[in-house]
Amino acid sequence: MSTDFDLIIVGGGLAGGSLALALQDTPLRIAVIESMDEALRQASPAGERALALAWGTAQLLDQLGVWRDALPNAAPIRTIHVSARGHFGKVRMSAERERVPALGYVATARVLEDAIVKALANASVTVLQPATVAALHGGNDHVGITVRQGDQTRTLTSRLVVAADGGNSTVRRLLDIGQTERDYGQTAIVTEVASELPNRDTAYERFTESGPLALLPLGKRRSSVVWTLSHDDARATLTLPDEEFRDRLQAAFGQWLGRLELASTRQGFPLKLIRAQRMIDRRIALVGNAMHQLHPVAGQGFNLGLRDVAVLAERIEARIQFGEDIGASEFLESYARIRRDDLDRVIGFTDTMVRLFSNNRWPLTQARNFGMTVLNNLPPIKRRLVRYAMGLGERLPRFR
Ligand SMILES: Cc1cc2nc3c(=O)[nH]c(=O)nc-3n(C[C@H](O)[C@H](O)[C@H](O)COP(=O)(O)OP(=O)(O)OC[C@H]3O[C@@H](n4cnc5c(N)ncnc54)[C@H](O)[C@@H]3O)c2cc1C
Repeated sequence: MSTDFDLIIVGGGLAGGSLALALQDTPLRIAVIESMDEALRQASPAGERALALAWGTAQLLDQLGVWRDALPNAAPIRTIHVSARGHFGKVRMSAERERVPALGYVATARVLEDAIVKALANASVTVLQPATVAALHGGNDHVGITVRQGDQTRTLTSRLVVAADGGNSTVRRLLDIGQTERDYGQTAIVTEVASELPNRDTAYERFTESGPLALLPLGKRRSSVVWTLSHDDARATLTLPDEEFRDRLQAAFGQWLGRLELASTRQGFPLKLIRAQRMIDRRIALVGNAMHQLHPVAGQGFNLGLRDVAVLAERIEARIQFGEDIGASEFLESYARIRRDDLDRVIGFTDTMVRLFSNNRWPLTQARNFGMTVLNNLPPIKRRLVRYAMGLGERLPRFR
C-alpha cells in the first residue's frame, strides 16, 4: 500500500533531529513528531546541561551542517585531568600530545538543539509540533501511528518509524519493550561557575568521597559543573544557601582553578542506567536515549546516540539506492547487530566507572589510585583510552 511517509521519527531532540537532517537530501518523505512546544523547549532548564562532545561527534555534527552554528558557543577541550580527592594518582590527556586541535568540545544541550531546529526549518522535512503518539498499529508493509495534535487525532502511515523520544520513550512503552534498569541512587547537580584562574580548556574529572565531580570548560573562566551525589545528599545540597553550596563545592573540587563563584542556578537530574531489551520491532528502530540512557560520569550518552543515528542513516541511504524496503526486518536486524558491540562497550565502561568511583572502601580506593598512576605512565594504553574518549575507538560512520 502507499503510505503517508517513508520515515516517521518520534522525538525531534538531539538524536531525532539529527536523523532527519542526515536524510534530508534523500527522496524519502520524512516526518518528525515532537511533543514539546518550541517556546517551552527554549524555557526548559534542562537545556542548560553541558554536554562533553567527543571529537568524532563534532565531525558528525559538521557533516550535518549544524556544527558551524554551534561552534561559536562551544568550548574546546584541550586537556582532560582526572584525579581523586586526597590521593596522588592522576591521569592527564592532552590534545597537543595527540596532535589534534582538541580532544572534544563542550556545548549546552540548548546550543545544539537550537542549531538542529534552525537547520530543520530549512529542510524538506514535515515537523508536527507539539504532537504526541497515542498508538502504534503494525502492518505487513507499513506502520500506522496515531498522532494527537491539539484536539485533533489522526493516523499516519509509514514504512519505518524511528523512536528518538528519549529516556521515557512512549514508543518503547507502547511496544512493551522491556528494559534493563540500574538505579544508581544518585542525582547529578548541574550548575555553572566562574573561576579566579583560567581553565585553559581543561575538563576536570574529580573523584571525591561523596561522588564524581566534573568541571567542563565553557569559556576562559567559565565552567559547567556536573556533581554526582546520593539522592539524599543532593536534595540537601540543592537547597543550601548559595555561599554554603559554593564552599562545599570548592572543598570538593580543590584549588585547581582558584576561587569559584556560582554563575547560575542549580538543577538536579536523577541518574539511572536504562537499556531497552530490544533495539528493533516490526518496522520500528530505537535510537539515542530511547534505547539507552547512561550515567553522565563518562559523558557518553549523546555521543553514543549520535553513532546510532549515523549508522542507521548510512545504511538507509545505501538501501534506498537499490530501491529496497527501509522497514524490512532483515535490514533492521542488521542495524541492531552492528550497534551491539559499541553499545555493550560504552554502557559497560560507563557502568564500571560509576561503580568503581562511587565506592570508597579501602582496597578499591587504593586500587583505583594505583590504576590511575599506572595508566598515566603507560602511553600506549593511555593513547587507546584517549582515542576512545574522542569517539574514535572504531570506524566512524559517515552521514553523506
Ligand atoms: C546531567 C546530564 C549530563 C549529561 N552529559 C553528557 C555529556 O557530557 N555527553 C554526552 O554525550 N551526553 C551527556 N548527557 C546525555 C545526553 O543529554 C542525552 O544522551 C541526549 O540528550 C539524548 O538525546 P535524545 O535525542 O536521544 O533524547 P532527548 O534529548 O531526551 O530528546 C527526546 C526528544 O523527544 C521528545 N519526546 C519525548 N516524548 C515524546 C513523545 N511521546 N512524542 C514525541 N516527542 C517526544 C522530547 O521532547 C525531546 O525533544 C547528559 C545527560 C544529563 C542528564
